[in-house]
Amino acid sequence: MSIPLPENVISIIDRLGAAGYEAYAVGGCVRDALLGRTPEDWDICTSALPQEVMACFPQCKIHTVGLKHGTVLLMLDGQGYEITTYRTDGPYHDHRHPDGVQFVRSLEEDLARRDFTINAMAYHPVRGLVDPFGGQADLSAGVVRCVGEPARRFQEDGLRILRGLRFASRYGFQIEPETGAAIRQQAELLQFVSGERIFTELKGFLAGKGAGQLLLDYREPFGAVMPELVPMFDHPQHNPHHCYDVWGHTCHAVGQVAGDPLLGLTMLLHDAGKPRCFSRDENGVGHFHGHPAESVKIASDILARFHCDNRSRDTILTLISWHDRVRVFTRRSVRRMLASLGEENARLLFRVMYADAMAQSPATLPQKLEGLAEGERILEELLAEDACFTLKDLAVSGKDLLALGYPAGPELGAALNALLDAVVEERLPNQRQVLLDALPMLEQDGQPHRNRNKGQ
Ligand code: ATP
Ligand code: MG
Repeated sequence: MSIPLPENVISIIDRLGAAGYEAYAVGGCVRDALLGRTPEDWDICTSALPQEVMACFPQCKIHTVGLKHGTVLLMLDGQGYEITTYRTDGPYHDHRHPDGVQFVRSLEEDLARRDFTINAMAYHPVRGLVDPFGGQADLSAGVVRCVGEPARRFQEDGLRILRGLRFASRYGFQIEPETGAAIRQQAELLQFVSGERIFTELKGFLAGKGAGQLLLDYREPFGAVMPELVPMFDHPQHNPHHCYDVWGHTCHAVGQVAGDPLLGLTMLLHDAGKPRCFSRDENGVGHFHGHPAESVKIASDILARFHCDNRSRDTILTLISWHDRVRVFTRRSVRRMLASLGEENARLLFRVMYADAMAQSPATLPQKLEGLAEGERILEELLAEDACFTLKDLAVSGKDLLALGYPAGPELGAALNALLDAVVEERLPNQRQVLLDALPMLEQDGQPHRNRNKGQ
């Protein structure tokens, strides 16, 4: 089995070799190369101590931020290569960080500290593959398996639980049963991991194609990092639109947006408020009145804890609050949607609504899909017409109203919004003179002066 190493990697390995040290490409890059994927970055491990590594590359720029852990970052042709001394990790006191690392001179010891067999392989251009834990066989079989005893490896570092799920999701792999059992049993260890690290892994997990099924099969770790989701587990819906319980529906909906972390998060959280809003009517049918607003609250808490960036957070919360709002697609309802959300989010909302529908009862699906297709057709039609959705598109501006003698202030804003409402609802055409003529009437009518989200 030979792996095509980039020239720079070969020259680093050769340089260290010429100085009497061992050096190998290691970890994720070997795994990805064996899978026929192009590795994002190439890591190298070596028997040389960090100072010895630096002495081998006197001409090169070297960053030493990772020195404590034995890592130097060597810059070659503008690209960074992490070169890490063989090491074992000391005891872990907080289920996340080793108390200290110990440099060792044996590659096998270094590979043994790595998390999964598929990540514990090293490759040398002449000596070939070093694979003491059967990583290559697991790669071919599509299996994520801990190096060593799974429970102990997760005790050392709880983040590995999510890393394992992320690799399984990304490559469509199965999780080896003992590793899987430990993922479930040790899930609480994730409480020792920071929100930022969890969020990075969660997004990576949702970016993979296996996320929906893995959420169904391994719900414990997700419940541990988002306890607000636990009430969804096994929560019945008692509703003819639904064929799964709330968590089952959620997982299937996530599966529908596989590969897109933003929409994955949206679907994961979109019904989180359902258990709090559950009621049954006189016929025993289940309802979840007001659940989108509850879901928004829960999602908002979770995303804040994870330090999600504001833009993604706003998009996710908007989509959740709208996921169940438009039931009938008409020019008017789609216009309203566009006016509130803007084109980009309106398009995302359609993907959310499709994913939601696809994860509901097959009996009512064809009708829902037809409605959504009609909605999308209208969306395109309106966009093609270059229709007016925001104050920016309105044929009259604040300046026009000022010229008519409106005092600057809330009244002027309210008048503009009343005009926009009329245009969005197609009560008036978006024509300057018509709008100006209509102004006195709108005021008399006392049209609702909504506080409009101005869209983009
Ligand atoms: P990715 O494709 O996400 O970069 P990767 O396997 O390269 O995956 P990195 O975080 O870049 O992941 O880590 C590089 C290597 O370091 C891994 O392949 C693994 O051998 C080892 N490693 C990383 N994190 C851990 C951990 N928490 N516990 C044990 N080994 C780890
Ligand atoms: Mg990597």
